[in-house]
Amino acid sequence: MSIVKKDIRAFSREELKSIFSEQGEKAFRAQQVYEWLWKKSAGTFDEMTNLSIPLRSWLNENFKINRIEVVDKQISSDKTIKSGFRLHDGHVVEGVLIPADDRMTACVSSQVGCSLTCKFCATGKLDRIRNLNPDEIYDQVVHIRNWAQKHYNQPLTNIVFMGMGEPLLNYKNVLAAIEKITSPEGLGMSNERITVSTAGIAKMIERLADDRVKFRLALSLHAANDSKRNQIMPINESNSLDSIIKALAYFHSMTRNRITFEYIAFRDFNDSMQDARELLAICKQIPAKVNIIEYNPTGDGLFQKSEQNTIDKFASFLMKNGVQTTVRRSRGKDIDAACGQLANKKHQEALIN
Ligand code: SAH
Repeated sequence: MSIVKKDIRAFSREELKSIFSEQGEKAFRAQQVYEWLWKKSAGTFDEMTNLSIPLRSWLNENFKINRIEVVDKQISSDKTIKSGFRLHDGHVVEGVLIPADDRMTACVSSQVGCSLTCKFCATGKLDRIRNLNPDEIYDQVVHIRNWAQKHYNQPLTNIVFMGMGEPLLNYKNVLAAIEKITSPEGLGMSNERITVSTAGIAKMIERLADDRVKFRLALSLHAANDSKRNQIMPINESNSLDSIIKALAYFHSMTRNRITFEYIAFRDFNDSMQDARELLAICKQIPAKVNIIEYNPTGDGLFQKSEQNTIDKFASFLMKNGVQTTVRRSRGKDIDAACGQLANKKHQEALIN
């Protein structure tokens, strides 16, 4: 009879302890395995050299470790590194390392595909296939952290959930992954260095507030009134700007965390001074900073990026009015690693050819 092997990282430490004690093993053995699985990111039971050989073979017979696998790693001329990660069931998501002067940022995916169909985003053109498990999110960070060390001899400093998918529609698993990433028994990274980016789902933002999360939150705003936002982000039809702003105010009151508004500058769509005034009015309602993002073409010609001097004027208007504003240049464009370009292009091509 063949046994269906269980994914060992789906068990909590307490669950592992009771599985081990049923097996007649000591609790500290479960602790050792747990450390190998998370802190040391072991990919096989055979690596767990402080366990006896019979215990290792019992683990091999009954459990599996679904480590994700790196496929098609590419390095951009600006040092950005992107890779596909193949999941145990064959699906591929993408993750990116973005090096800058003072930081090394990992950009990770939370879902296979996405359900939100934002008009400017390449991932939005794919269907949502499934949520990632906590370990699949965790593994992306581990790989990207290793690249930072190996290629640039630097520690990973920041993590952004700005890859494929809508993190707040995979709420439980994203929070479980962050729990592991920040735990001393995992990667021990700081919550302040983690940013979850959302297209804006009011109910879920309120849930983050109720859970008093410690990580940072970014809202992909991109338009400062409902009629424009509805045109580019269908999720806005059921989550009006008012409802999102109310949820963000609640989030801020519960967590004291400042919010970041991400704002892609689209030429002749949202980059006029009138748009800047409407954005300023939103910023006056909650403590927030603004990140103006250069639009990365996704190949359909629907949008163009704003002129540099238009962006400068827009940004300096906000700054003059007391809003902390940064203009983010796009990174990794030559390898389709930039925001909104993650669409498994290579894999789609491979499927077509
Ligand atoms: N679903 C989440 C996270 C993924 S998108 C969210 O919407 O926030 C991560 C960031 O990339 C978001 O701010 C998104 O709006 C932005 N983005 C998407 N497509 C882009 C494009 N073509 N050019 C520039 N930024 C883009």
